[in-house]
Amino acid sequence: MGETKYIFVTGGVVSSLGKGIISSSIGKLLQARGYKVTIQKFDPYINIDPGTLNPYEHGECYVTVDGHEADLDLGHYERFLGIQTTKANNITTGRIYKSVIDKERLGDYLGKTIQVIPHITDEIKRNVKLLGNKYKFDFVITEIGGTVGDIESLPYLESIRQLKWELGKDALCVHLTYVPYLAAAGELKTKPTQHSVKELQSAGIQPDVLVLRAEHELSTNLRKKVALFCNVDENAVVQSIDAPTIYEVPILMQAQGLDETILKKMGLPVDDTPGLGPWRAFLERRHKAEETEPLRIALVGKYNLQDAYKSIREALSQAGTYNDRKVSVDFVNSEKLTDENVAEALEGMSGVLIGPGFGERGIAGKFVAIKYARTHDIPTFGICLGMQCITIEFARNVLGYADANSREMDEKTPHNVIDIMEEQKSITNMGGTMRLGAYECVLHKGSAAYKAYGTEHIQERHRHRYEFNNAYKAEYEAAGMKCVGINPESDLVEIVEIPKLKWFVGTQFHPEYSSTVLNPHPLFVAFVKAAIENEKK
Ligand code: GLN
Repeated sequence: MGETKYIFVTGGVVSSLGKGIISSSIGKLLQARGYKVTIQKFDPYINIDPGTLNPYEHGECYVTVDGHEADLDLGHYERFLGIQTTKANNITTGRIYKSVIDKERLGDYLGKTIQVIPHITDEIKRNVKLLGNKYKFDFVITEIGGTVGDIESLPYLESIRQLKWELGKDALCVHLTYVPYLAAAGELKTKPTQHSVKELQSAGIQPDVLVLRAEHELSTNLRKKVALFCNVDENAVVQSIDAPTIYEVPILMQAQGLDETILKKMGLPVDDTPGLGPWRAFLERRHKAEETEPLRIALVGKYNLQDAYKSIREALSQAGTYNDRKVSVDFVNSEKLTDENVAEALEGMSGVLIGPGFGERGIAGKFVAIKYARTHDIPTFGICLGMQCITIEFARNVLGYADANSREMDEKTPHNVIDIMEEQKSITNMGGTMRLGAYECVLHKGSAAYKAYGTEHIQERHRHRYEFNNAYKAEYEAAGMKCVGINPESDLVEIVEIPKLKWFVGTQFHPEYSSTVLNPHPLFVAFVKAAIENEKK
């Protein structure tokens, strides 16, 4: 296509409007027209990456194949576009400043005074163009975190202003705002949108497209009014009203010609019809699945917040669709689980998923849930810490080591069935010091994992410090827990299973990160299938 085109997505009025979903939907529509698209996110906080952030602060930490701890919006990008993102797809203010300060210390600026403009803005611009220049994408969509008007966003807005000036038609700004409904007046109000656009304009940016989030249909008159007050073409004012699923959003945007408007504004042809066939087929199957009786899956963890296990919830829901079943994920707070209340808490659950996590809090309840699921043969899926808990529970209640533990929870445990690797011991820097990103794994033929994947060699993403202790491997295997997935280089155990049970699998890696709309993860599909079969018996 020639030069890379850049689309900036900003947000105004309030946060949490779903910029990530709009960015992903635009990306999907352009991709469906045959363009090579990627999406990146700029987060205006000072942390180098979200790896050290509590999930209550920022939702789940997503992990890219190249081992970057990233914002959860990258999960949406991957699930919608079926692409793999990398470290270059998620930049924070902290990273921008760090690289400028590192260069300054090396003397790269030859004695100049280092300032927000031009040094910080140049570094932002370099990171925007990096993906286009290096990987030759047709479109790079850049989502700016936060809300226009925040102090933190200013250097990003200034960079967009400069890039729009430099790139002309090759750059475009989509601004997402909110149109509230005042029940007392019975009216939708456009004033916050007008103010938000003024704020952008005062930073020197004229938005090309406005996407208005609303809970009610917007009339043509209202859109005309917004167009007039905001200097935007009428057909470039698009509404985004609540949809039953986020996966409808590309279709809703396409119905309003959002992709056409963007292509025309960027001087590109619009004659071909977008190939959204497989996407529509997925949605159709999903609609049917959503009408079925919900299959209840318990998600045992300590963060009672939708976003904290975002990718797991999405992977379960996708696996439901591919099993033609609606999945209802019931959060079960592990901090409250005891031997006395577990039967009640897991009543009616067809499967149990033990979530990932860090630290001691909520661990005891995870053991309670695992013991109950194991002894009642309920299909169980343990992910990362969940897998480690599966092995610890087995050591305590089957191997007979009542004090078995992970060294993370008890430094002095005599039965360290989960332990830290030698080279990790001396690390005190908290950022990016885990086993991160994609590693190879070889599966044992005949295992439940092998049956799910249908292949022996897989690669999955990791995010953890502790590992299964191979000194106990033979004992586990003799007692009925098999190590069926092994890293061929390090010999580390990646998957454990109890073959005697219906479906009891623990993975040291995080399969949820690579489940996408058109390619659901085989382990999630197999787990949901086992849960459905369990229900039938
Ligand atoms: N806390 C465990 C570890 O560091 C598991 C991490 C996780 O569940 N992502 O090994």
